[in-house]
Amino acid sequence: MEQIKIFSPATIANISCGFDVLGLALASIGDEMLLRKTEKPGVRITKILGQNLPLETSQNVAGVAALAILNESDYQGGIEIEITKRIKAGSGIGSSAASAAGAVWAINQLLNKPFTELELVKFAMEGEALASGVAHADNVAPALLGGFTLVRSYDPLDVIKINTPSELHATVIHPQIEVKTSDSRKILKTTISLKDGVKQWGNVGGLIAGLFLEDYELIGRSLVDHIVEPIRAMLIPGFNEVKMATKNAGALGTGISGSGPSIFSLSKGEKTAEKVAQAMKEVYTTIGVDYDIYISKINKKGIYPIE
Ligand code: ADP
Repeated sequence: MEQIKIFSPATIANISCGFDVLGLALASIGDEMLLRKTEKPGVRITKILGQNLPLETSQNVAGVAALAILNESDYQGGIEIEITKRIKAGSGIGSSAASAAGAVWAINQLLNKPFTELELVKFAMEGEALASGVAHADNVAPALLGGFTLVRSYDPLDVIKINTPSELHATVIHPQIEVKTSDSRKILKTTISLKDGVKQWGNVGGLIAGLFLEDYELIGRSLVDHIVEPIRAMLIPGFNEVKMATKNAGALGTGISGSGPSIFSLSKGEKTAEKVAQAMKEVYTTIGVDYDIYISKINKKGIYPIE
């Protein structure tokens, strides 16, 4: 195989109670990437369509992640990358993760799959570190494995794929306001109370059990965040109103996607997900903030070849 074209999905990290450990992949929004082998060694990003992002290998998460995998392989040639961005950088739905995970997945295919999924997650995390300063796996893991994923441990890295109930749909609204990942990390406290810890791990366990049991009520009861959301919500105008409106529209739960500003809801069935979208739109129309909105199934496959 000399070249490969892929779809690399947008992802929702944290999923309310699972700060830095839970994530899911979306089906209907993602980037396209074309990767080809070259005789000349090294990694070159030759084209980025749809957004203004750095072409220099060392400044683009796709370039950094590509170098991470190539450095561990026997391959002597080089790689060219073209990216068609559909996920806006800084939106909070894993724009950088889609590029980092997409690059390593595609290169692994071009090299005849020498690496395991877990190794691919590690290489993609090196790319992610460029975007946020820290090597997170909560977006790259669902992009690579598909469905819901749990990062049970970072050291050693241990990633578990969680069952996806078939009727689950996500609604995501991206209000056009800027929240820098670094700012939304800085405002977090570094300690939590035992009382909040107890509530939080109860909900993480409940959410995982709910996903495996396909118990939508339990999923809904568990989509609660006592630790991060109360602080980060302050950075997102309209968040509390969206939370209330989506609950009334029948959502199982609503939270901040990654570090925001995107807000996600999970719903049982497409019809409810559409009602939830309508409720979200009304809030931002009233406030007078532009938005992008998506309704999506959960993507169980992760990254896949296209054409
Ligand atoms: P998101 O959570 O949507 O990925 P981040 O703020 O974490 O947003 O990451 C976006 C940052 O990563 C921006 O500063 C952007 O310039 C940088 N970046 C570098 N390469 C890429 C890429 N290929 N795709 C998206 N963002 C990239």
